[in-house]
Amino acid sequence: MSDAAKIIRDSDPGYHEARAAFDLCDQRPAAICVPTTVAGVQEAIGFARGEGLKVANQATGHVAAALPALEDTLLLKPMINLEPSIDPAERLARVGAGTIWRPVVEAAAAHGLAALHGSSPTVGVVGYHLGGGLGFYGREHGLACNQVRAFEVVTADGEVGRVDRDHEPDLFWALRGGGGLYATVTAIEFDLLPISEVFGGASFWPVEVAEDVLATWLDWTRGAPDSVTTSFRIMNLPPFEQVPAPIRGKNVVAIDGVAVDHVDGRALVSQLDGIAEPIMAQWGPMPSAAVASLHGDPEDPVPAIGNSTLIDEVEDEAIAALVEAAGGESGSTLIATELRQLGGALSRPDETGGVADRVEGEFVAFGVGLATDPGTRARTEADLERIFEAIDPWQSGRQFYNFAIAGSTCDDCYPADAIEALKAIRHEYDPEGLYQAPLDL
Ligand SMILES: Cc1cc2nc3c(=O)[nH]c(=O)nc-3n(C[C@H](O)[C@H](O)[C@H](O)COP(=O)(O)OP(=O)(O)OC[C@H]3O[C@@H](n4cnc5c(N)ncnc54)[C@H](O)[C@@H]3O)c2cc1C
Repeated sequence: MSDAAKIIRDSDPGYHEARAAFDLCDQRPAAICVPTTVAGVQEAIGFARGEGLKVANQATGHVAAALPALEDTLLLKPMINLEPSIDPAERLARVGAGTIWRPVVEAAAAHGLAALHGSSPTVGVVGYHLGGGLGFYGREHGLACNQVRAFEVVTADGEVGRVDRDHEPDLFWALRGGGGLYATVTAIEFDLLPISEVFGGASFWPVEVAEDVLATWLDWTRGAPDSVTTSFRIMNLPPFEQVPAPIRGKNVVAIDGVAVDHVDGRALVSQLDGIAEPIMAQWGPMPSAAVASLHGDPEDPVPAIGNSTLIDEVEDEAIAALVEAAGGESGSTLIATELRQLGGALSRPDETGGVADRVEGEFVAFGVGLATDPGTRARTEADLERIFEAIDPWQSGRQFYNFAIAGSTCDDCYPADAIEALKAIRHEYDPEGLYQAPLDL
């Protein structure tokens, strides 16, 4: 094997560093390869086939825990040209596999441009797009995957290809929402938006007013303009220095969001102003580069577990049910119980989009808590069970791919005809089932 495709086995130095994952799961693959070139990816795939190993693509390991056992698998972590390149005239980003969001957001912002990134600057750009990509510009501009112009890939047979609307259109469709089961992506090109400044921010209140905050916010979401995308959370904030002092270590309720149109943003803030005295509230014009950190997602590895579901036709009874299960009196220890607002462009089918051509549902519900040891894990599991049982009447039965939990499959995310099409495409590009991914087909 060449230097660009060194194989690391468990007896080799560097194995433990190479198997480390953002979610701190204890993954122990048969072998690991961190190729730095496209030829290195080809070599690694050839090696896996020769050894009878499967292949699991990975960048940061944000969802490593959701992968199946890896004892007969090569963990393939392409790190190819991590310097994003921006073409301002074309409003196009070209990003190598292994790159995380922060450098891309910063490089785009230097040209007054923004990408449809999500709430974490340390999530991998390729993995995010492969699972749809839901962010604070979503209700105005839809899912990120449908801004992709092209993927460059190595397929299971070791062939290199460019995949776009005109080349391998079926594979292009599957990669936009179907995850990492079809090929190893070595680079991605996607459209950027001419957004250098937005209106955005966050408000935090004591958890005691959770019902009032949720009721006002839900009411506002029913007629909200597409230019605004927001999220509601009940949070147990950790006592860390990175958390602003007024809310550090506190049980709070929060709303944050972004308005592409400043007038719409101000109208939201005036609704929120009427609720109760916030502990902390900061809204106003902000550089689009700051949007990636607005949600305060953890940027360092953290052992967390969660659950998620799409919810629909939310009635007023959901307010009391959610607050009773997750609010101050519930004893919930979850870091966040969240409802992310969907609708707008996210719910309109993108005629030229991928398998994730929309997200069906009014909100995506998400709960996340610590699993540092068996005790915290058990508590988090009990909290998740209680909360998801409480919102069961409004669960649509579907999941959003990027938030789907371990044990889910693609069937939980897409309708039967899309699943049949994905299976056919998988069979065409990976007939022997070389690839493993968090959500199987
Ligand atoms: C804290 C946090 C915040 C998040 N916020 C958002 C959000 O706001 N919006 C949203 O939509 N999602 C969000 N997600 C979900 C996230 O986008 C997905 O989990 C995504 O798959 C992570 O990609 P990764 O590369 O960082 O993780 P990894 O675990 O490294 O990869 C995830 C999967 O992507 C595939 N993959 C990665 N790289 C390649 C490649 N080069 N070729 C082929 N397949 C590949 C593989 O199947 C892999 O198993 C969040 C997740 C976390 C943990």
